Amino acid sequence: MIIKVDAIVLRSLDYQESSKILTIFTREQGALSVIVKGARRAKNKFGASLEPLAHINAVLYIKETRELQLLTEAELISSFPKIQCDFEKLFLSLSILELVYVVTRHTEQNELLFDLLKETLETIENATKSVVLLFYYFEVRVIELLGYRPSIEGCASCNKSVQDLLQQGAKRALFEFMRGSFQCESCFPLQDAEFPVDVRAIALWEQLSRLNVKEIKELYLNTDVQGDLDRIITMYLEHHQPEMRKLRAKQMFDAIQNQ
Ligand SMILES: [Zn+2]
Repeated sequence: MIIKVDAIVLRSLDYQESSKILTIFTREQGALSVIVKGARRAKNKFGASLEPLAHINAVLYIKETRELQLLTEAELISSFPKIQCDFEKLFLSLSILELVYVVTRHTEQNELLFDLLKETLETIENATKSVVLLFYYFEVRVIELLGYRPSIEGCASCNKSVQDLLQQGAKRALFEFMRGSFQCESCFPLQDAEFPVDVRAIALWEQLSRLNVKEIKELYLNTDVQGDLDRIITMYLEHHQPEMRKLRAKQMFDAIQNQ
């Protein structure tokens, strides 16, 4: 079967003398491994269209019984040039690709995830200020698309909304990873043994799940809260996505940020 797909390149590896093996995430067929023969010959027709991040229209020869499909043509729609030359944009976008790679390995087609990925990369490409929140926005949306959105609008015991808790001066809460909920400090007095989470981090997560990408782009990230937000989203993903592992690009980004 010959098909045309809308795809984003997640990974690209050299293979043998002149070929490449790519992992692409397609709108039509989910994630696929494809081989591109002759991709590294001096006069190949592919240009930048086989590098990670590239958004392409590709022609594939699909055989259901085969693990590796054949890519014969690729037309570059965007290589996201502004992402490529900005450290923060690049490392966070590569982190997003890694996350998509992990969560799509054993899933079928997911048009919503593809559209989310494309829209997020386009927004990062054109952003004029920090894109850190867009990265967390993407993670929060992935969690929802995979079906384990937490209930964090309010405390699981007293139902007080996270906004009310903040207004009443609540500082810390207990985040329950297994249940995907939290309890305020009045309902669950925190002991030293527990991992308290800043209530503002929970409020920010709740905001990220409610607003759209254009609104998020304008949002201001309070860096005091960033550590807790990062920690709860990462731990929550690891808890509910068994194959989840540390994102290498994100670890490098954090290491350089903290220097
Ligand atoms: Zn409560």
